[in-house]
Amino acid sequence: MPDYQPASRVTRIKESASVQAAARVRELKAEGRSIIDLTVGEPDFDTPEHVKQAAVAAIAAGETKYTSVTGTPQLRSAILDHVERRTGIRYSPSEITIAGGAKQVIFTALTASLDEGDEVIVPAPYWVSYPDMVLANEGTPVVVPCGDDVGFKLTPKALAAAITPATKWLILNTPSNPTGVVYSRSELEALAAVLAEHPQVYVLTDEIYDEIYFGEGQITSLVAAAPQLRDRVLLVNGVSKAYAMTGWRLGYAVGPAPLVASVNKLQSQISSCPSSISQAAAAAALTGDQSFVAECVEAYRERRDAAVAGLNAVPGLSCRTPEGAFYAYVNCAGAVGKTTPDGATIGNDQDFVLYLLDAASVAVIPGSAYGLGPYFRISFATSLETINAGVEAIDKAIRALS
Ligand code: PMP
Repeated sequence: MPDYQPASRVTRIKESASVQAAARVRELKAEGRSIIDLTVGEPDFDTPEHVKQAAVAAIAAGETKYTSVTGTPQLRSAILDHVERRTGIRYSPSEITIAGGAKQVIFTALTASLDEGDEVIVPAPYWVSYPDMVLANEGTPVVVPCGDDVGFKLTPKALAAAITPATKWLILNTPSNPTGVVYSRSELEALAAVLAEHPQVYVLTDEIYDEIYFGEGQITSLVAAAPQLRDRVLLVNGVSKAYAMTGWRLGYAVGPAPLVASVNKLQSQISSCPSSISQAAAAAALTGDQSFVAECVEAYRERRDAAVAGLNAVPGLSCRTPEGAFYAYVNCAGAVGKTTPDGATIGNDQDFVLYLLDAASVAVIPGSAYGLGPYFRISFATSLETINAGVEAIDKAIRALS
């Protein structure tokens, strides 16, 4: 057999840190270790019954064939209605693309638009996949550190400084994974004012956590704050997080027709269409009873409050109260430089996370995976008991450091 040589686009990238962390937790559990798992990036709730029933009905009705690349008419109209409710803007059917998850939509949008050397501005901390997706598509990620001092958000000044003639995209994520921060209308308007001076820059706004918001009313979508940018904003969303449908793999985006047309052209060569059954389920989720979403948000709020209060009471740790999504980003600078009972020095957040796994059987993800240390991310999409047990074990492990 000849030596297999992966393509350079593969050797340039890493496996997703969150997928890796989940695999490690599964391995340890299989070895019989009891792990308090705070890595999970998906709702712990089951998909609502009416959504499952819509999928069963689609199978029974023979809706089991290829659909058009842009989906069934039912799904398209459900998406357009949903986006209009969220943004006040009525997109047209030629402005939609759908795929097997928001993740695939983002990847394909980058494939459709990046040439070698095109720059993509990625504010850090970022969702783990953005820089690697850019690299896999021959682009250059331009990571802009956005620390706690600026609320983990991109400022207009930092945006202006990062833009060059090679900038193709800015990626925004609100509410954010991993910090849970949400951009306000005025913050989005201020970023839009900078973008007005750079008409070549497109914006990919990843609003997959839009429904998981703990504030009043709803989050402001970038296109609602800056409708004048509509012709260069790709608004990405999906059903994974709001409707506990991560395994159904259905995401979508709306944006300018020429961009969307090239994404759809690629999609026609990649997957033809996402699963027809998942499309029926997603249409039911978007058009059906929405009380499930509100119930989940209330549960996440209770867990968030427990996690944030618990972690802030641990010596050496601090975290902001997330306004959306189901993650907290915890500063662990107070643990860095300390010594474990085995005599090892904690040099950075990765060491700390390994120590927590070994000494306390708690799994979290190091901030370095999100481009900004020394932090770790916890997910509170898990039971209150697990969160409380995790906080207690972390507290004990920190107190054992010297
Ligand atoms: N964007 C962000 C910020 C995410 O956290 C995730 C899921 N972890 C995705 C996109 C992908 O979601 P989907 O399941 O729709 O592919």
